[in-house]
Parts: sequence; structure tokens; C-alpha cells
Amino acid sequence: MMTINEVKQRLIEGNDRFVEDKLDGKLQDSSRRDSLVGGQAPYAIILSCADSRVVPELSFDTGLGELFVVRVAGNVANSSSIASIEYAVAHIGTPVIVVLGHQSCGAVTAAVAGGDNGYNLNHLLSHVQPALAASGEGAEVNDVVRKNAELTAEELKTRSGIISDAVAAGKLEILPAYYHLDSGRVEYL
Ligand SMILES: [Zn+2]
Repeated sequence: MMTINEVKQRLIEGNDRFVEDKLDGKLQDSSRRDSLVGGQAPYAIILSCADSRVVPELSFDTGLGELFVVRVAGNVANSSSIASIEYAVAHIGTPVIVVLGHQSCGAVTAAVAGGDNGYNLNHLLSHVQPALAASGEGAEVNDVVRKNAELTAEELKTRSGIISDAVAAGKLEILPAYYHLDSGRVEYL
């Protein structure tokens, strides 16, 4: 497995290629598929929004078996997203988590707007409430997105012994980040 610093460097370089329209597009062919049938060893976990404009595998110029991507609107930490992340931390030893908020997030926009969105969406948006409260009255959506990524990164630790233990042992780092829809740049917060 790559070290934390190697992973961070790999993600930065891949994102640079994406931003510059110079994707390598490696590890996406039949030989790579064959090599992965027996198991996976992704070096990074990405907690991303479901938004179609945010595609982590492209944003970091990665192929099959490189990223363990968990997607849920608003990239929130709920029981299911945390459990998915715990699997990669505990069973694969993946050393980096990126919590990837993004510009103009619809889920955060709905949370900012408030009101009744029905049982399921209300429940999901309740996970954005701490970021909304921390951002203060009249905060811009993109500022709440940033705060949400930061607080979610913290929440992963407070709600998961597996994750907090791995961080404490120096085996795992959690990076809140903000994805720019226009430039494709992943900005670490
Ligand atoms: Zn979104």
C-alpha cells in the first residue's frame, strides 16, 4: 500500500492532469480488470456527492481499483456512508479519505433554502444542518459546502472508532476538499 504522502501526491498529480486536459486514462483495460478479479487495494477513499458533474475517477485521473468511492447527496456522514468507509479502512487499510464537497451543491442549496422536502430528503439534509448553523445567517451556499466538508471530516472520526483509531495510529488521514465545477480543481481545505 502507498504511504499517506504518496497518495496525496498521486491525487494532486492526477487532478493536475484533469485540470489541464491531459488525462492518462491508465488502468482501465482488460488486463487491469483481470488483475483485480482476486481483490482490490484502493489507495484512497472519496466521500463524494452524487452530483453527475463530480466524477472522482476522472477528477483524479484514476482507473479501476484505485479509488474507493462512496457517493451520497451532500457527501454526508450517515450510518451507511460511514460503514462503507469503515470497510475500506478496516479490511483494505486504505490510508487517505477525501471528503469532497463541490461548488453549487444542490443538497446544500436545499438545506440553505430550508422548508419541507419530504421524509427522506429532510433526513439527509439534517446532516448538513451543523454546517449551516456554523456558517451563520445568510451564508453563501459555497461557504456552507466548505464548512460541510470540514465538519463531515471531523464527524467521520467522532462517529467511528475504526476511523478515529486509524487516524490516532497515524495510518489514516482525512482531507476535506472543495471541487470547482468550472476548473475541475480539487482544493484542499
Ligand atoms: Zn452536491
